[in-house]
Amino acid sequence: MIKNESDTPKTVSVLVPMPAETAYSYSVPDDMNVKVGSIVRVPLGPREVAGLVTNEANSDSKVAAKKLRPISEVFDCPQLPADMMRFIHFVSDYTLSPPGMVARMALRVPAAFDPEPAIAGLRYCGGKVEKMTAARIRVLELAQNGLAWTKSGLAHAAGTSTSVVEGLKNSGIFEEIEMPPPPVVALPDPDYSSPTLEKAQKLAADKLIEAVDGDCFKVLLLDGVTGSGKTEVYFEAVAQALEKGKQILILLPEIALTQQFLDRFESRFGAPPAEWHSDLTPKQRERVWRQVIEGRIRAVAGARSALFLPFENLGLIIVDEEHDTAYKQEDRVFYNARDMAVARGSFGGFPVILSSATPSVESKVNALQGRYQAVHLPSRFRKAALPDLRAIDMRKNAPPSGRFLSPPLELAMREALDRKEQALIFLNRRGYAPLTLCRVCGHRFQCPNCSSWLVEHRFRGQLMCHHCGYHEPIPEACPECGTLDHLVACGPGVERIAEETLKLFPEARILVLSTDLIGGVKRLRLELEAISKGEVDIVIGTQLVAKGHHFPGISLVGVVDADLGLSNGDPRAAERTFQLLSQVTGRAGRTGLKSLGLIQTYQPEHPVMQAIVSGDSEAFYKREIDERARHNLPPFGRLAALIVSSESRSDAEAHARALRQAAPSANEISVLGPAEAPLALVRGRYRFRLLLQGSRRADMQSFIRAMIARGPKIRGTIRVQVDIDPQSFI
Ligand code: ADP
Ligand code: ZN
Repeated sequence: MIKNESDTPKTVSVLVPMPAETAYSYSVPDDMNVKVGSIVRVPLGPREVAGLVTNEANSDSKVAAKKLRPISEVFDCPQLPADMMRFIHFVSDYTLSPPGMVARMALRVPAAFDPEPAIAGLRYCGGKVEKMTAARIRVLELAQNGLAWTKSGLAHAAGTSTSVVEGLKNSGIFEEIEMPPPPVVALPDPDYSSPTLEKAQKLAADKLIEAVDGDCFKVLLLDGVTGSGKTEVYFEAVAQALEKGKQILILLPEIALTQQFLDRFESRFGAPPAEWHSDLTPKQRERVWRQVIEGRIRAVAGARSALFLPFENLGLIIVDEEHDTAYKQEDRVFYNARDMAVARGSFGGFPVILSSATPSVESKVNALQGRYQAVHLPSRFRKAALPDLRAIDMRKNAPPSGRFLSPPLELAMREALDRKEQALIFLNRRGYAPLTLCRVCGHRFQCPNCSSWLVEHRFRGQLMCHHCGYHEPIPEACPECGTLDHLVACGPGVERIAEETLKLFPEARILVLSTDLIGGVKRLRLELEAISKGEVDIVIGTQLVAKGHHFPGISLVGVVDADLGLSNGDPRAAERTFQLLSQVTGRAGRTGLKSLGLIQTYQPEHPVMQAIVSGDSEAFYKREIDERARHNLPPFGRLAALIVSSESRSDAEAHARALRQAAPSANEISVLGPAEAPLALVRGRYRFRLLLQGSRRADMQSFIRAMIARGPKIRGTIRVQVDIDPQSFI
């Protein structure tokens, strides 16, 4: 709110990076010009912080303007556009997160609030040069067209050293000028290399292009089996948005996917998109943020946090692999980037394309009910066959004791190797073994901070907690009974599968891929490239390898334990398993190789296994949708969770109970719990959960607000986390 009554000083509301419920008021010095969306420096207690000027009312707006502290500085930065401001407030209201904490996500790069420094350049201005040399002639030939050069750029282009350029400069034939900072990426060209689309692809692309041309909000669900050309098709929408001078955001679930994606984008548009993810250096982040708000960057490919970049003219968002759980942030502000992308599109008045081979049930229902436009690609590009998928009944094909690959899978691996084709063995479990125990006394290794077992990581020689990162060296003796060399690993992780594979196929080139890979994203990108190039025979990986990658040589996918995610009490367990198995088996046969997917399971009759093996995904969706409708689960009903945690178990429990008591009475919302969370202790905090279930129309947010307002005061180490539309129930 910007107020300016005749003789009182002007005041504004500013969102500061604090968990406060409203904005704070500041006065505006006479000579300062602030608008809604301006980024300002303001005093906050003893510090100064960056804040965002908003038009929302605030709690201290009645404080006399004279008593307010003044804004210190308005940064030399374009304002955040109005649609971005509305988006920030929407995310805050929807997720019940303080608006300042949401603004903080948009203002994460303080160094970018000041303009990038200009760079020093030279321009030819004529004059006489004594002593011509061959190198000097080359420099002059290049410079004489009057364009601006950097000293090193000119020297490099002329194939000489900077001292030659320096010498010419001293003779006065160059003037020194300031050049704009270099762009992060070149401008993508919509016509750089257009593919020839197949008929069905063309039809789909036309629908997307029409939406971009329509210049208004609309959601399209682009679905088609793995390898049907979804990326190729949505690139046509990108091209159209580029033609129209718009900015484009492409969200990807996994940064490991970006390299292949950047390369593809570059071959289509002649320049890569700017990247945005946690692996950028601070300097790169700063430059991308700044050039996005200045409109100099036209296309960004990024992780979920890219949604909070300050686009000045956003005209299209694409959410690739829209069903992916990585879009859900469960830290501070709990939000689903897929859903928030849709909201961003509605405020900005532009289309949002959700793309997936296995859409979420939520999106599928939205498409069936006509809220989203369904755009479908019926088959793989060039009619490449999908893999032949079979379930291996582990009750009948048990592997030898202590091993995990069944005889039929082992045989198929051998055949793939003989044909010089690649195999991908999938197990969604990091490390060597999920549980270690002492054979003598039965002692199990548990995390001291969490209620979870320590996972053995044999490559690293450590027992690790996957929830808090706690680790200890693998001991030789049992810490309980002291017996030496009697620890046993229970169950497999990818490292153990690699060990077994190496014993079976000592001559094969084997690669283990999981997030534990030492060497980070760079190493991962190299390994992925090595797979694509056929430098590996057998890849053993976690879900990291399941997603989106294009591995041309893979003709066999083996799933070690297809049942792994089915029994965890998550209402989306069947959907998730279906998606994961479709994705991972979809890595096979992408370039027309005859291919096979073998799925090891103890429940081959389970509807998920049936759907995968028969390839009848529609039947699966129908069943799943009916089930959700019957139990009033999303998207037919709404869910929210409240997670109460504390260093004291009894405090957490008492607080959760009192919160439950404070629930207003409402017919359309019921409160379940509190119950001790399945993951009852994390990082030394005891956890209790309340689950709220409501009808589709229920106002969950107001209900929770009332509950918290009427509930007990937060004391001691208690924390209450609100999770609207929870994805995780542990
Ligand atoms: P999806 O995103 O549905 O998995 P992709 O867009 O990755 O499918 O396409 C699968 C493969 O087929 C990629 O290598 C892609 O380049 C190729 N492809 C798809 N459509 C075409 C086309 N019309 N022309 C050339 N190559 C195509
Ligand atoms: Zn732990």
